[in-house]
Amino acid sequence: MKPIFFHFLIILFSLSTCFGQNTEVNYFKKLNSKEKNVIVNKGTEYPFTGEYNKHFELGSYHCKACDSPLYRSNSKFESNCGWPSFDDEIKDAVTRHSDNKLGYNRIEICCSKCGGHLGHVFKGEKLTPKNVRHCVNSISLVFKPLVPNK
Ligand SMILES: [Zn+2]
Repeated sequence: MKPIFFHFLIILFSLSTCFGQNTEVNYFKKLNSKEKNVIVNKGTEYPFTGEYNKHFELGSYHCKACDSPLYRSNSKFESNCGWPSFDDEIKDAVTRHSDNKLGYNRIEICCSKCGGHLGHVFKGEKLTPKNVRHCVNSISLVFKPLVPNK
């Protein structure tokens, strides 16, 4: 019995260190199944249904999983595509990956801090002077209003 018990302790110990080091697991653990479907499994919410599609207030949009600030409200614009659209990100907040899931190349965007899926970025649509559209799932974001200084 003794060696088995010892073995059990080792497994418990390695599990705890594993979770301690892998912060991504911790960031995603608190998400509900709808949020996980987009943020972890790289799904897409239905167009025109997201909380921030028609949301235009002063503030910043943060990662739902790790709270990292991703976009400022002054980069948000109405694209009528059905998802929140931004023409710029907060510096280094967003990482780009090549995505060929649909049979053609798209650029996937993820939170640089936790790797959570945000959406895709498109260029050359001439919608804003910056000519870039970050097409982001509302469910990947949390809006924080700008509190004016007193
Ligand atoms: Zn994140």
